[in-house]
Amino acid sequence: MVDTVIRGGTVVTPTDTYDADVAIDDGEIAAIGDADSMPEAVEVHDASGKLVMPGVVDPHVHIDDMFSGDTYETATKAAALGGTTTYIDFAWQAWVGDLSLWDEPGTLVEGIERKREKAENPVIDYGLHAAITREDPAVFEELADVIDAGVPTVKMFTAYEIGLGNGFMDQVFAELADLDAVAVLHSEDGDVCDAKTEQFQAEGKGDPEWYPRSRPDYAEAMAAEDAVRMATEHGCQYYGIHTSCRKSAEVLAQFREEHGEEMVRAETCTHYTVHDDSIFEELGNLPMIAPPIRKPDDNDAMFEHLKAGTLDVVSTDHCGYTLAGKETENWWDSKFGANALQTNLPVFHDEAVNERGFSYPFLVRKLCTNPARIFGLPGKGTLDPGTDADVVVFDPDETYTITAEANANISDFSIYEGREVAGRVKKTFVRGELVADDGDIVAEGGHGEFVERERPDWDF
Ligand SMILES: [Zn+2]
Repeated sequence: MVDTVIRGGTVVTPTDTYDADVAIDDGEIAAIGDADSMPEAVEVHDASGKLVMPGVVDPHVHIDDMFSGDTYETATKAAALGGTTTYIDFAWQAWVGDLSLWDEPGTLVEGIERKREKAENPVIDYGLHAAITREDPAVFEELADVIDAGVPTVKMFTAYEIGLGNGFMDQVFAELADLDAVAVLHSEDGDVCDAKTEQFQAEGKGDPEWYPRSRPDYAEAMAAEDAVRMATEHGCQYYGIHTSCRKSAEVLAQFREEHGEEMVRAETCTHYTVHDDSIFEELGNLPMIAPPIRKPDDNDAMFEHLKAGTLDVVSTDHCGYTLAGKETENWWDSKFGANALQTNLPVFHDEAVNERGFSYPFLVRKLCTNPARIFGLPGKGTLDPGTDADVVVFDPDETYTITAEANANISDFSIYEGREVAGRVKKTFVRGELVADDGDIVAEGGHGEFVERERPDWDF
């Protein structure tokens, strides 16, 4: 007797699809196989005509801090409704500045403790990246403790007031290489972006159409090249986040070719595969995200590099903002970022599978298996027996129209508003518990847990 059987669906793995039942017991996948081979179950869920996939692992979200008004409760509800069963948020080294929430500087370890305290009532599991925001060598003393706390990935920025200079980053890469930890990079050349922004401000170019030109694709590629070169010189594992354009993807492809996928990995985000810069005329500041949404050729480049392997992962870069933070006269006064946790799987499925002919296993690799492996989550992103029963039942044929009205997070807009998609999340299980059922949250808040991650091995 097991807890649950999901009956009659089409199981999707990273390499294959086949008809099978899935048995769940004690929060783990107990068996996959023919209906005849299944044990008796307390609960049976019918999945006929539907896909049964691992839950989405989103390694790039912003929750409950200066980049997001979402709480863990609102964000994880949106995530569960969208088929995401684990996300990785950021633990910040406190700094003092315009963007900061703090009056005095703090440590990464304090940042981890603070985020874990804030993480009340989650319905899905979560992990954290540590984010370095200041050039203070004291950080080197605590990196080993950060990794021991289940946080083996460290983010650095090359732009904004929290951007680090190359000299300091070079030292961080060396330290992380010694500790077998991963560097996670936001790469945009801060000097170029700041100078262009100041120029446009002086010229009164405040219409949102000017925004993408303030952070050009070559500035992203320049910073990526510096960072990935330093990382690979030191033998430090490098993960490029939110790759948005052909130029930047080509840099990463070159270094990956030279140093192998055990050293260089990268992601793009759904919005860079779906939208081009014509959206600014349509939606104003709402799709203002950094790096910016680019050109149609960059959409194609994202799929070329997803196919070739340069881009391993598709994430959301979810930020919980509302219209109030977006409706400003000039784009530079608007918040940067947009919500996507609830819409990510349906929109990316619609674009990749329905529009561009990619397979279901491709979807599972980019959204589930790869992010789990790359970020040291061996129990996630797979339906292998013995792993966590994080499972999504997805109807690939049901169509619906995306509206912000349906958002479970705090955002009252969507950059996918009005898009009709084929494919809808029907059920989401987190460690065997049904948390979202046909558009409703059915679990108690608090089911979600912090996941201590391992140092990842990228030799796959
Ligand atoms: Zn981000």
